[in-house]
Amino acid sequence: MSAQTRTVTVNFPSRDQQKNQGVRFGGREFVVIAGPCAIESREQFSAAAEGVKSAGAVLLRGGIHKMRTNPASFQGLGNDAFSFIKDVKNAVGLPFVSEVTDPRQISDLASIVDMFQVGSRNMYNYALLKELGQTKIPVLLKRGFSATVEEWLLAADYIVKGGNDNVVLCERGIRTFETTTRNTLDLNSVAYVKAHSSFPVIVDPSHGTGRPELIAPLAMAAAAVGADGIMVEVHPDPSRSLSDAHQALNFAQFADITRGLSSLLAAMGRELAHA
Ligand code: PEP
Ligand code: MN
Repeated sequence: MSAQTRTVTVNFPSRDQQKNQGVRFGGREFVVIAGPCAIESREQFSAAAEGVKSAGAVLLRGGIHKMRTNPASFQGLGNDAFSFIKDVKNAVGLPFVSEVTDPRQISDLASIVDMFQVGSRNMYNYALLKELGQTKIPVLLKRGFSATVEEWLLAADYIVKGGNDNVVLCERGIRTFETTTRNTLDLNSVAYVKAHSSFPVIVDPSHGTGRPELIAPLAMAAAAVGADGIMVEVHPDPSRSLSDAHQALNFAQFADITRGLSSLLAAMGRELAHA
């Protein structure tokens, strides 16, 4: 049994309207989202954007507002990053996804993001989901780390019910008894969503494993199970990342992933989405 997946398009107003059709989730093309966990400076974000684009990413990620477990940890640059994010996006020519952690951020962020991300810790923030339902901007809804699949799908319905049906789900691992990996990536949920729901679904093997050597194999597994894409954390100099340094990939490691995906997808009659 397989449900028909709806398509969700992230529009990106480019100088050449003919060329850029936006990024489409839920079709034959597999979408690769990449970028740093957090935006740290103009230099870091610009280097990250160019590096991931040249290795095949079609959507750029980067945290502006970070949900850190420890309040003493780097919380993101906030609105101070806005001035250069636009320049970086336009220079590299990729749309941008970033997390919204509070409904009060929506109007400011709407001027800079092409897709909102709802993080794992906010999947149950129904006030936030309802507000995002009032916009038309696509939403990447991460699964809560202790949410059942049913709760995750119902969270998506909150956004749809508000009037925004541009929702893409993201499996990012759940908390289990297993502590070898940061989380347990639940690929069952991806197969289930593809079979029983109409939302496109992608996989985040960076937070799903928390271990750089496991990101490539789980990215391949995501494609094999039928996901609509992946999102991975890539940093120009991983050891200097201000957040999630332990799981950040360098450009060469990321390029190996897109190369591997390209061959695997071809064998499945699919292909990587191109910018
Ligand atoms: C992220 O992708 O930046 C992030 C914080 O992930 P999660 O919400 O899945 O923990
Ligand atoms: Mn992270």
